[in-house]
Amino acid sequence: MKLAVTVVAAAAVVSARCPPRPPVDVNVKCCADLAADASLKGKVYLPGTSAYTTRLGEYYSANAALAPSCMVLPTTTEEVSTIAALIHKSKCQFGMRAGGHSAFAGSNSVAAGVTVDFGYMNTTTYTAGDRTAAVQAGSTWGKAYETLDPFGVTVAGGRASVVGVGGFITGGGYSFHSNRAGFGCDTVRNFEIVLANGTVVNANAEENADLWRAQKGGSGNFGFITRVDMDVQPTNKLWAGFVGFQPEQVEEYYEAYIDFVDNMASDLASQTLLGVIANEGTTVTRNAIVSNSLGIVRPPAFDRTLSVPNVTETLFTDSINIIVPVFTGPTPLGLFSNWMVEMYASDIRILTFIDAALLRATAKMRAAAPDSVFQVLLELQPVTQSMVQHSTANGGNVLGLEAVVADGPAVMFLIALTVDTAANQDIILPLTIEFREEVNAYANSLGLNKNWKYAPYALGDQDPLSHYGEENLALIRSVSKKFDPTGDFQTLRRSGFKIPV
Ligand SMILES: Cc1cc2nc3c(=O)[nH]c(=O)nc-3n(C[C@H](O)[C@H](O)[C@H](O)COP(=O)(O)OP(=O)(O)OC[C@H]3O[C@@H](n4cnc5c(N)ncnc54)[C@H](O)[C@@H]3O)c2cc1C
Repeated sequence: MKLAVTVVAAAAVVSARCPPRPPVDVNVKCCADLAADASLKGKVYLPGTSAYTTRLGEYYSANAALAPSCMVLPTTTEEVSTIAALIHKSKCQFGMRAGGHSAFAGSNSVAAGVTVDFGYMNTTTYTAGDRTAAVQAGSTWGKAYETLDPFGVTVAGGRASVVGVGGFITGGGYSFHSNRAGFGCDTVRNFEIVLANGTVVNANAEENADLWRAQKGGSGNFGFITRVDMDVQPTNKLWAGFVGFQPEQVEEYYEAYIDFVDNMASDLASQTLLGVIANEGTTVTRNAIVSNSLGIVRPPAFDRTLSVPNVTETLFTDSINIIVPVFTGPTPLGLFSNWMVEMYASDIRILTFIDAALLRATAKMRAAAPDSVFQVLLELQPVTQSMVQHSTANGGNVLGLEAVVADGPAVMFLIALTVDTAANQDIILPLTIEFREEVNAYANSLGLNKNWKYAPYALGDQDPLSHYGEENLALIRSVSKKFDPTGDFQTLRRSGFKIPV
């Protein structure tokens, strides 16, 4: 009893001299440990430093730019391995950023934890012998096209130069080459991946073939991708441009699109997508982006589209390296962007309904937020049987589109909302979702809703992987269990889409 009193008294003295320390924030400790690693010297950015602030300003969407406990920017696969091992050992929360062009909060950063940022891993190397380009995950497509241009080749990457490799390729990747080659991920021969425990693996048709297939559409669920080795496309030449239509031609515009899509299998190099843009809530503008990935000028596939009277045509042939930046135009950083997506059967009733509903919706948005500056951009782009057949021929992916196109082509319906301020976004975003749900209800009433979501365009709550089908989900789950047995990418990873439980 006496001893106990003495011990308690001693403890009281100690605590009077040093008040109990607050528990060390595990994520702050992770950052300190990363910063202390000699190989990562100068590559860990902490809050309050100008490097951190500048990098946070380089997100496409202000919603996505969550301020982490630190960012780490590796320059080599070995460094990624060091980072992974430390995250794994210390159970750090983390996010992954490649090009930083996903839009929703939690798509590519983490509010508390480490953002692993691949921005310095951005080179492309071409091996002429086997016609493969090794593209690092943190590159933008613009940079990859620029490197490949002198060799007269290109890869099936993004249609905007600013988009990153990591997010695009892990979600599918709709390129100017998709009708000839499938999605960008279908042209990947090999992924170099750093697993949760720091082990570096290759995933291709011969080695870790299950991981190779699951990674084609499986998002950021299996490891840190450091490099993708992609088949190059036969030429870097592209014939492409915008065709702007008059408001009176609205029906011909959609009829020409449907006609083109129905015949896409007859000209695999030609593609189109429709853009419908509402800026002020009072009018919409409509255009088509037409392209031929073999550089063929005005191919017959576009006879009908180009016979519709138009107001502008900016069609030209050049290398993809020149054309894609022109398409990209100014993509201002730091606005409040939200992307969301649906998939319907390709049917003119859906297209004309969307067009009319957009004008009603944007008028409502304008009235609700009269001082806002906003834009609603719709993109309507085909997903066809020929695209899916290329995927299968290249070893398959996990997107589960076979069922979606079984009865004919589908139309992917992207809504991209951009708003000037967070306060205006609070008003306009719910109205945008209301617009989306109005179109869904109409599609449901006609039995045309395909209930499939494309991850690179999906809003945070759209759970794209849950629409891939049971067989693909079973593969994704088993690959996750095999290559990430402690489930770090399901629990510690805070960014991007997870595997549905
Ligand atoms: C202007 C613009 C144009 C676009 N054009 C197209 C287009 O033509 N076709 C198309 O299909 N999409 C297009 N998109 C959508 C684009 O593909 C997605 O936004 C994509 O996520 C962006 O890639 P990122 O590398 O910038 O992604 P980030 O925002 O950096 O990352 C998104 C997610 O990708 C995963 N990821 C990133 N890096 C890695 C890595 N190293 N390892 C594992 N997983 C990783 C993670 O899950 C992460 O959460 C466009 C987007 C914009 C803003």
